Amino acid sequence: MTVRPILVYGDPRLEAPNAPVELFDGELARIVEDLFETGWRAPGLGLAAPQIGVNLRLATVDLSVGKDPEQRIVLANPGIIETTGRASVEEGCLSFPGLFTTLPRPREVVVRAQGLTGEWFELAASGLLAQAVCHEVDHLDGRLLVHHLRGIKKKMFLRRVDKMRRSGAWAV
Ligand SMILES: [Zn+2]
Repeated sequence: MTVRPILVYGDPRLEAPNAPVELFDGELARIVEDLFETGWRAPGLGLAAPQIGVNLRLATVDLSVGKDPEQRIVLANPGIIETTGRASVEEGCLSFPGLFTTLPRPREVVVRAQGLTGEWFELAASGLLAQAVCHEVDHLDGRLLVHHLRGIKKKMFLRRVDKMRRSGAWAV
């Protein structure tokens, strides 16, 4: 396993198209291991492949941040097939280090995805897990925190982004 650098907002790979995962091979397993390892180290609750510069429809989620193997979720080619409710939640992103904002998210979702060996599964998630799954699926569509914001809220968020950048906090 290798901890890889996490790309920050502004890197074009975060907004580039992501190709479907077609080969469920050793190379994919290595990328998945790197995603988990990099996410745990950050630390974060999940990581999408484009965040380490791999433009595939692939993400990992682990609310236990490495503590409980049972909570490791591999999402290859995921799609949200059902959403229920809506709540305003606070959210951050490893590609916007140090910044948080509030945005609406479904309270419950059902996601359909393939696992490490290509088997399809459906997962019903609520609360923080639903939020994490939505966040990672967003990444695979090139949709980032800032894309959820409008008007003055977006302007203020981008001003904070600029400040972080200028202070050198986002140096990569
Ligand atoms: Zn993110």
